[in-house]
Amino acid sequence: MLHRFERPRSIAEAARLLASGPWSVLAGGTDLYPAHVGRRIAAPLLDITAVAGLRGIRRDEHFWTIGATTTWTDVLRAELPPLFDALKAAAREVGGVQIQNAGTVAGNVCNASPAADGTPVLLALGARVVLTSERGERELALDEFVLGSRRTACAADELVVALRIPARSERARSAFAKLGGRRYLTISISTVAVVVDLDASGVITEANVAVGSCSAVGRRLPALEARLAGVHAGHDLAGLVEPGDLAPLTPIDDLRGSAAYRLDATATLVRRALCEVAA
Ligand SMILES: Cc1cc2nc3c(=O)[nH]c(=O)nc-3n(C[C@H](O)[C@H](O)[C@H](O)COP(=O)(O)OP(=O)(O)OC[C@H]3O[C@@H](n4cnc5c(N)ncnc54)[C@H](O)[C@@H]3O)c2cc1C
Repeated sequence: MLHRFERPRSIAEAARLLASGPWSVLAGGTDLYPAHVGRRIAAPLLDITAVAGLRGIRRDEHFWTIGATTTWTDVLRAELPPLFDALKAAAREVGGVQIQNAGTVAGNVCNASPAADGTPVLLALGARVVLTSERGERELALDEFVLGSRRTACAADELVVALRIPARSERARSAFAKLGGRRYLTISISTVAVVVDLDASGVITEANVAVGSCSAVGRRLPALEARLAGVHAGHDLAGLVEPGDLAPLTPIDDLRGSAAYRLDATATLVRRALCEVAA
């Protein structure tokens, strides 16, 4: 049973409502509703799917902007450069087609599950989160926004309006690798995203490697990133991975896999993703 339901048409109206008291923001509902099966949703629902200007992906000189109500299916249908191959690969494996049609990229981030498939990709892309409220707009790096398992820096009166990703050269590319109990409709055991930018001769100018499902929050692998910079993309990139590179990860033992298995699988996924960007 609901107390109240509102479906604002503008960001200003949404911000005014959010300032008036506690709300549960509803985008695709594919995390929110399953989390409340058999339970009443405590706060009234603020459905943001009709807010103008929040859906779609656009590019300006410096950034790509993914609006907050952009779904995984929108990502798959958008014409995007190879920089976004990892995001498309993640989109293809989030749940099934019905979940991809309703679920949003921003909702995945706001839900802050350690197993969210979007998070490692967005970390590797250097995504920033744009938040709006009646107090004004602010922007946080993704690792400042996701504070822990199911915890974000989004205040009760704030709405995430977009994810902002720095534009790279047209040579930039990315890859995503996911291990789950099965291919679709499964919670990830480990996910890896790699983003590399190259100079005109094929040398890596910047490498970002991020891992999901192996810590309370997604983690970058800075030692590996530093080793990859300056290497030609045609080199055996997978051979550059060292065991110590996974030190930032703190996987747990659970019914989906032991911590040791997760680490071992992650090393393999990192190598696979590197082979893909080198190919
Ligand atoms: C069967 C099934 C399979 C799934 N498979 C996967 C999978 O393989 N990989 C994966 O990562 N996830 C999976 N999910 C989880 C889910 O589909 C995704 O996380 C999805 O991207 C969530 O987006 P949403 O729009 O539905 O979020 P919602 O459920 O609408 O919202 C999620 C949370 O974020 C908050 N929120 C949403 N948007 C905003 C905003 N703009 N500002 C502030 N707060 C906001 C909501 O209040 C809520 O707390 C699955 C879910 C189901 C039911």
